[in-house]
Amino acid sequence: MKRVGVIGGGQLAWMMGDAAKKLGVKLVVQTPSKSDPAVAIAQDTVFAAIDDAKATEILAQKSDVITFENEFVDIDALSLLANQGVCFRPKLSALAPLLDKYHQRCYLRDLGLPVPQFLAVDEVENLESKLEHLDFPVVLKSRRHGYDGQGTFIIPDLASLQQKLSQTVNQSQFLIEEFVPFERELAVIAARSVNGEIVIYPVVETQQEKQVCRRVIAPADITPNQVEQSSAIAHTLLNSLEAVGVFGIELFLTTDGKVLVNEIAPRTHNSGHFSIDACETSQFEQHLRALCSLPLGNPALHCAMAIMVNLLGYENSENDYQNQCQQLAAIPQATVHWYGKIESRPGRKLGHVTVLLDEYNPDIANHLAHTLESIWYPS
Ligand code: ADP
Repeated sequence: MKRVGVIGGGQLAWMMGDAAKKLGVKLVVQTPSKSDPAVAIAQDTVFAAIDDAKATEILAQKSDVITFENEFVDIDALSLLANQGVCFRPKLSALAPLLDKYHQRCYLRDLGLPVPQFLAVDEVENLESKLEHLDFPVVLKSRRHGYDGQGTFIIPDLASLQQKLSQTVNQSQFLIEEFVPFERELAVIAARSVNGEIVIYPVVETQQEKQVCRRVIAPADITPNQVEQSSAIAHTLLNSLEAVGVFGIELFLTTDGKVLVNEIAPRTHNSGHFSIDACETSQFEQHLRALCSLPLGNPALHCAMAIMVNLLGYENSENDYQNQCQQLAAIPQATVHWYGKIESRPGRKLGHVTVLLDEYNPDIANHLAHTLESIWYPS
């Protein structure tokens, strides 16, 4: 039996639980709090912050391989462990170019992948001349530790940009990029095995509000050529990184039908949650298969379509929302995944619901997604 150590104990680690049981894999989790979701499914837990490399050393003693559900780790400290023979999958050199959004953009551009125009903010003084090639609005992003739209700001004009930067102590923590007036946002989950085999999930449409993912429609209603562009991006990226495991790739579909890369997550991803109920192999099982050197599974949908709606907190409360969850679960072919978090806060991901459809009809899918939201969110 393989023992997999997971750095991070949130819902992504929690959703590995069923797949681990199925594959006979033992999960050991490093996470700070007893109330973190994955503590309930882990066979052993190291209670510590995820960037505590001393704790990861203990995790390593309990595991054959270590993976990440959260990439906000101390990579220099982990390198010392890697040098002592600790096996990280994906390996640290596959993570390193992705952790800082500016470095990530440079890496993707140097690989020849299509990305929005971007620049690093280092000196505010000559910002105006640097911005010559970008029109407003622009997008200002924290280079590190951004997630769920935290650290992403759409800035309408130069005065607002200067004001925002002047309020910040360390401007060099930011990246500026062109605002992409996308037609839609897409995402693709891809997995690569130890011997370089790659599987790609159906490309999905993701729908964000206030920079946070609200809904996912699988598969996206796009042309075969756009599927091909997305798949080619995934192949190039995973091969170049020599990635092992699942990666989530967020994409923009531009108004002239081109696919640009927005962001790479070196782990399982919210846009792949539909795969638990809708695909032959879930992204979580796929990730464990890749880590444990098992043959990769079939990523295909076993239904015509699926929609996934995030159940985001909308108040500060300790409610378990049983009533709403029961109403959601009563919808035909719906499955509610409740992460068991004790506290609800506005915007916090508390769970998700996936509904399978027997026919391919994007209008019905969108309509259903809004019905699910009308059950979840108070009017
Ligand atoms: P996070 O790491 O917080 O998820 P992202 O970079 O993915 O941040 O941005 C979150 C959302 O903000 C995106 O899904 C998209 O809706 C919007 N966004 C980000 N960058 C741009 C851009 N360059 N142009 C237009 N919208 C953007």
